[in-house]
Amino acid sequence: MNQKKSLRNCPICQEENGEILHTQNFVLPEGHPLSNGYDILCCDRCGFVYADTTVSQKDYDVFYAKLSKYEDKKTATGGGESPYDAARLQKTAECIAEFLPDKSVRILDIGCANGGLLGYLKKLGYNNLCGLDPSPACVENTKQLYGIEAYAGSIFTPPQDLGDFDLVILSHVLEHIQDLKFSVKLIEQLIKVGGYLYVEVPNASGYVDHVFAPFQDFNTEHINHFYHPHLSNLLIQFGLTNKLIGEKVF
Ligand SMILES: [Zn+2]
Repeated sequence: MNQKKSLRNCPICQEENGEILHTQNFVLPEGHPLSNGYDILCCDRCGFVYADTTVSQKDYDVFYAKLSKYEDKKTATGGGESPYDAARLQKTAECIAEFLPDKSVRILDIGCANGGLLGYLKKLGYNNLCGLDPSPACVENTKQLYGIEAYAGSIFTPPQDLGDFDLVILSHVLEHIQDLKFSVKLIEQLIKVGGYLYVEVPNASGYVDHVFAPFQDFNTEHINHFYHPHLSNLLIQFGLTNKLIGEKVF
C-alpha cells in the first residue's frame, strides 16, 4: 500500500490520507493553466477516488472561461451537434421530463456548453429555461442556436439576481470541480424549496467496461471519479436526498 497525505484532501469527506492508485502525467502546451500530473488517490475514510491536484478552483475557472473546448460546434460534447451527442442529450431531456410534467417550471443548466440539452428541453415544451457557462462563446451559441436565456459565469461566479429554480441541472460538471463541497453549497441555494437537482457524472465503477481512449477519464479535466454512493455522500451533506439513481450507457 502506497499511502500519502493528500494535497487536496478528499473533496467529499475532507480526509487527509489516501492510497496512491496511480501517478498520471501529461504533456501540456506551454502556459497551460492545468497540472501536468497528479496522483490518483483513494480516500482512506470514504473510498472516493480523486486527482490529488494542486491546481486551484480559480485556475480551473480561467481554463473553462478562456480555453474551453466546449464552444467548438463540430468537436465539442454538450452542444448536441453530433448524432452521438444529440442522442445522449435527448435521452437526458426525456429522463428529466418524467419528473416535471409542468412545462412552465424554471430550469437552470449549469455548464450548458452550446445549449444542446436546453434545446431538447425546449423541444419537449419547457419555456422557462436558462443556461450558465464559463465560456462567453458557449453562451452566445446557446442564445443564437436555441433562443434561450444564457449567462457567462460558473457555479462560483453566477450573475447577480439569477433567482431560484425548480430544477438545476449539472450534466457532466461535478467531475470537473476542484472545490466540490463549496460548489454544492452554492448550487443548493439556487434550488427552490421542493425543487430538484439533476446530476449526471461518469460512473467510475463502469470505466473498465467501456475503454475507448488512452487514460480514459484520467485526464486533465476529470478530477473526481464518482460511484453513486459517493455522490450521495456529498449531496446529503447539503440536505439533498435521492429521488432516483440510475445508470445509462451511451
Ligand atoms: Zn473521503
